[in-house]
Amino acid sequence: MAFESILYFLHKMAPLVPLQEQEIKLLRTPNRVLTAELTVSGRKYPAYRVQFNNARGPYKGGIRYHPDVDEDEVKSLGFWMTIKTAVLDVPFGGAKGGIAVDPKMLSPTELEELSRAYVQAFYHYLGPYQDIPAPDVYTTPQIMAWMLDEYEKITKTKAPAMITGKPLEQGGSKVRDIATALGGFYVLLEATQKRHLPAKTVAIQGLGNAGMNMAKLLHGQGFVIQALSDSQGGVYGKNGLDPRQAEESKKTGSVVGYGEQSSAAPKSDCRVITNEELLELPVDILVPAALSGVITKENAGNIKAKIVLELANGPTTPEADEILYQRNILVIPDILANAGGVTVSYFEWLQNLRQESWSEEEVRKQLRQKMITAFDRLWQEYAENNKENKFDLRTVAYIHALKRILEAERKHGRL
Ligand code: NAD
Repeated sequence: MAFESILYFLHKMAPLVPLQEQEIKLLRTPNRVLTAELTVSGRKYPAYRVQFNNARGPYKGGIRYHPDVDEDEVKSLGFWMTIKTAVLDVPFGGAKGGIAVDPKMLSPTELEELSRAYVQAFYHYLGPYQDIPAPDVYTTPQIMAWMLDEYEKITKTKAPAMITGKPLEQGGSKVRDIATALGGFYVLLEATQKRHLPAKTVAIQGLGNAGMNMAKLLHGQGFVIQALSDSQGGVYGKNGLDPRQAEESKKTGSVVGYGEQSSAAPKSDCRVITNEELLELPVDILVPAALSGVITKENAGNIKAKIVLELANGPTTPEADEILYQRNILVIPDILANAGGVTVSYFEWLQNLRQESWSEEEVRKQLRQKMITAFDRLWQEYAENNKENKFDLRTVAYIHALKRILEAERKHGRL
């Protein structure tokens, strides 16, 4: 998402919140943009940390390793984290970091060196009560472990709460590995109950961490997973697909091979489909869990699902959003649906600060409570507004978040 679209978006939200010019200015301005050039094996890599807003708590946001990373993208993602933590009401602000690098081109030693160099460049601005990074695209628990180690070496402290998404052995939290899907799952169950929708059939686009775990959770709950896909295409089975079999197929290539290997579903029951077809299947629930911008004004009119659960970031374009709303399709927006990850990151931070280690059962219970509380609060307002056909759930979520951030800014005396 380009930062320009955030400026456009804030002006669009202005009459709805409502926002004064001075408030827009504050919301669109990052508190701090840090840049550095990191050198590993004689090559230079641009690195960024954008601390967008900390009105509601310490900065929080992942670090991305990707060749396309630039300041504009990191700024946008920092804004978006500020919104997400406010929607969930976790006591953090928003930040994001990144290095413009293709990590697949680095040896493990170079990857470690680069990760440590990132902390050497920015450690002064990081810390349990300042700014708490986490994994993002192509960054892993191991990378978090190196970063923590470097931070503790430089500052001569023990400070596990300065970073989340760590390995369990270093103070990571249970459930973190499936937190995004599990958070979305809790919200989906609540939504189907609130809407009294007899939702049963599901199509999921994307079989990575988010999509695969969601498939397993829904399958375990008795939903019928009729379609699954990955980057090479998808598979459809009217009578249901078994996610574990899909996982096996992926190990040897793609889910497209499901029919050939599956003992759970004979080949005749399955057919190969494209990712585009998957989106338009006559299922009750559609879960985009891969790319952004896949539901567009071109295909929104053909979506047949009653509920779209956005596990991916930004899968629905603004034009498509409008079409889905007019067609009475419930979109559970990304800023709520995929916030389970940051919520369990918050629990990890809390456990580290309190020197506790919660059981899996405890983390699940707390996550469920946090997700459902956020959903119910938004739902109440959505139901009110919906009588007058005013706002969709996404708009309601943004209004809530922006109000919360501004209220905190006022209390700080910055407004
Ligand atoms: P991942 O890298 O683990 O998996 C991505 C999946 O998408 C893979 O199965 C890949 O085959 C599939 N894919 C790639 N290109 C595709 C295409 N053209 N069509 C269909 N499928 C395609 O990623 P992830 O962590 O599961 O993240 C998926 C989405 O969820 C992203 O938008 C991400 O930003 C969002 N998200 C993830 C988390 C998390 O904790 N994992 C948290 C918040 C948001």
